[in-house]
Amino acid sequence: MSRKLMIAGNWKMHKTVAESVALAGQVVDGLKRLDLDVLVAPTALAVHAVSQRLAGGPVLLAGQNLHWQDQGAYTGEVSGPLLKAAGASHVILGHSERRQYFGETEKTVNLRLKAALACGLIPIVCVGETLEERQSGATEGVLTSQLGGALAGLSADALGGMILAYEPVWAIGTGLTASDEQANQAHAFIRQWLDWRFDKAVANSTRILYGGSVKPANAAGLLGQTEVDGALVGGASLAAADFLGIINAAPAA
Ligand code: PEP
Repeated sequence: MSRKLMIAGNWKMHKTVAESVALAGQVVDGLKRLDLDVLVAPTALAVHAVSQRLAGGPVLLAGQNLHWQDQGAYTGEVSGPLLKAAGASHVILGHSERRQYFGETEKTVNLRLKAALACGLIPIVCVGETLEERQSGATEGVLTSQLGGALAGLSADALGGMILAYEPVWAIGTGLTASDEQANQAHAFIRQWLDWRFDKAVANSTRILYGGSVKPANAAGLLGQTEVDGALVGGASLAAADFLGIINAAPAA
C-alpha cells in the first residue's frame, strides 16, 4: 500500500511572528512538489498569522503541543480548539523535548492525543529511545511502552488519520542520524505493533515519519526506505533552502 509522504518542519521556539510568516512564504513560493504533504509547525504565537499566509495553498499547519482541556484556568497553555480556530489542522504531541524538559509522560500524551482527536486536529505522535536505551537493547521495549501509553483506550476507527514520528532522542539536534537501515527497522517494528494492537488496515495506512537530524544530504536515503513515510525536521526546517532541499530529495510518488 502506498502512503503519501509528509515532510514536516518543527520550528520549535524559533522565529518571531514576522519571521515565521516570511519563512512560511518562502516555503510556499519555493514549493515545486505537490505529490507529497508539506507541513510547518511554528510557535503557538505565530500559528494564526502563518495560517493567513498559507491560506488556500498546499502547505499544512500544525501546533507543537496542546493542553487536554478545551479551556479554563491553565495559565500559559494552549488548547486544541484554540489551535484549530487559529488555523491549525495538525498538532505535534509527545515530542522528546516535552518528555525531557516538561514532564511529559505516556499518560499526558494519551490525554493530549484524545483531546486532539476530539476537536478534529490530526495528531503527529512522537516516540523514540535515548542513546542509553538503544545501547542497552531496549529500543523495542521503549517503543512498545510509549505507543501503548499514548494510544491507550483508542480504537482503530478513532485514530483520525493519526501520524506517528519515530524520533530517536540521540539523533535530535545532535547531527547524528539513524542509518537508513536503523530507521527502516524501527519503523517496521512500529508498523508490526500497530498490526498487533489494531489491525492490518491501520498498520498499512498509518504514516510513520522519521525525525533526527534530517538534512538535504541524508534525506534521499532515509525517505527511500520502504517503511519511512516522511520526515519530521527540526534544525533544517528553519531555513527555506534546506527544508525545500529535503522536500526535493524525496522520491517521486
Ligand atoms: C525534531 O525536533 O523533531 C527534530 C527531528 O530535530 P532535528 O531535525 O534538529 O534533529
